[in-house]
Amino acid sequence: MQSTMMDVPLTVAMILRQGSVVHGESRVLTWTGDGARSATYAELGERTARLAGALRALGITGDQRVGTFCWNDQEHLEAYFAVPAMGAVLHPINIRLFPEQMAYVTNHAEDEVVIVDSTLAAPFGKLLPHLKTVRHVLVVGDADLATVQADGVEVHRYDDLLAAAEPVFKWPDVDERQAASMCYTSGTTGRPKGVVYSHRSTFLHASAICRGDALGLDPLDRVLPVVPMFHANAWGLAHAAVLIGADLLMPERFLQGEPLAAMIQAERPTVAGAVPTIWNDLLQYARGHDVDLSSLRMVPCGGSAVPRSLMEGFDHEFGIPIRHAWGMTETSPVASVAIPPREAEGEERWRYRLTQGRLLPEVEYRLTGDEGVAMPSDGESVGELEVRGPWVTARYHKEDDEAKFHDGWLRTGDVGTIDPRGYFTITDRSKDVIKSGGEWISSVDLENALMAHPDVVEAAVVGIPDEKWQERPLATIVLREGADTDPVDLRASIEERFARWQLPDNFAFIDAVPKTSVGKFDKKVLRQRYAEGDLDVQTVPHD
Ligand code: AMP
Repeated sequence: MQSTMMDVPLTVAMILRQGSVVHGESRVLTWTGDGARSATYAELGERTARLAGALRALGITGDQRVGTFCWNDQEHLEAYFAVPAMGAVLHPINIRLFPEQMAYVTNHAEDEVVIVDSTLAAPFGKLLPHLKTVRHVLVVGDADLATVQADGVEVHRYDDLLAAAEPVFKWPDVDERQAASMCYTSGTTGRPKGVVYSHRSTFLHASAICRGDALGLDPLDRVLPVVPMFHANAWGLAHAAVLIGADLLMPERFLQGEPLAAMIQAERPTVAGAVPTIWNDLLQYARGHDVDLSSLRMVPCGGSAVPRSLMEGFDHEFGIPIRHAWGMTETSPVASVAIPPREAEGEERWRYRLTQGRLLPEVEYRLTGDEGVAMPSDGESVGELEVRGPWVTARYHKEDDEAKFHDGWLRTGDVGTIDPRGYFTITDRSKDVIKSGGEWISSVDLENALMAHPDVVEAAVVGIPDEKWQERPLATIVLREGADTDPVDLRASIEERFARWQLPDNFAFIDAVPKTSVGKFDKKVLRQRYAEGDLDVQTVPHD
């Protein structure tokens, strides 16, 4: 029997309508370095209509791609809604990729229009001659337009186009399965790959992350998405905030500890999302300065494993709970969130908070061992996590990558355990696992233990070739300024938590762990630096 329910599409226009009409008084604020400029969601609604009209006049009449080359700010939010709501496809370009990769993704997505922030006009101008499909560039702000020139490309000022456009736009009916936006993976292995989100996936994901079993957002929240809008949709925070009428505080290019502390103190966000590296930076800054972070009630954190030392620092020194979440560009991205069960207390509570969390109900999961064997969710058996669900990609844009999919499931490349209550714990990326003498060593566990040492700011562990054991762990360590800890001390500090053979015997002190374009440890670069003899390795034999 069929239901009697209406089949109404779930669209980005629906989110925009709710935000701009029902929550018209809520605000988007953009940090400018010493204060914030702001607009109401009602004004956002009008400006998105004007932007849609302007884009239509430039020939965006169907599902063409409109790129953005922007920080998190009000204009980026306008594009986030105008482009999908008018039936076109938004492509936020990751401004931290290598120039060749940025050209690759823009050409691959076939962006016809790109909206560029003035502070990024110079690097974009260098890229432009390599962009084959771009016909129009819209410059936000007052950059010299001469910096953005190429044959066959018309350059406009964003605000001039908006001023000349009509303040209303007739948003078309859009099929919910149609493309709304696309993000490329950060390309740590091989070329970046395009993930295309639908209206439906965007709507469902935005609604779900507002729920209590996920990030628990509230209309009275003021949300600070530090995570870039070009990286996995800023974790859906921008869509979710507009959907429920929470304010948004956009950090623009001010992403270091000091300016973040200033903007949090001045504009009092209640929820702020970023990768561990950013929060580590804020923590180091806040420790040495008199800053008021008390407005924050919850800090979603993910993108890489959150070290216990970071969570403890936020909890004990500032009374702010970090909420650990896991996801991927391919999963929109939020797929699991670590909220401990009701009865867990003390050390057990910590153990749950440090897992990658429980998969949300929409995201089905299974663990797959060697040769495709299904592994039990017993908290001990290790396998690769595979997922499927309404906001999980089924393929990549214009790419056959069968290795990433398995009978209709996405192979996440994350290896770990799932306990009987559904808590997923990553022990490694499949490409980063260290296999020593036939046994696995978790680089993530070693890193977390090393980062708990008071002198260690960052630690990244990689496997290096070994004649006898095939691979042994090499710990690369960034020490706090002025610290003089040596490898023997470091190893002693973690030796109770590991079997002897799992402890690293090689250490290298480095200035900073190399990071990918989205702030993850770039272990490929570390392995390469080791192979090229570029690391000063100190070996501490096991006695
Ligand atoms: P990206 O698509 O750039 O967001 O990268 C996704 C990958 O980041 C995942 O497959 C994981 O390897 C890693 N990742 C994301 N969140 C976490 C987390 N909470 N803990 C550990 N790794 C994570």
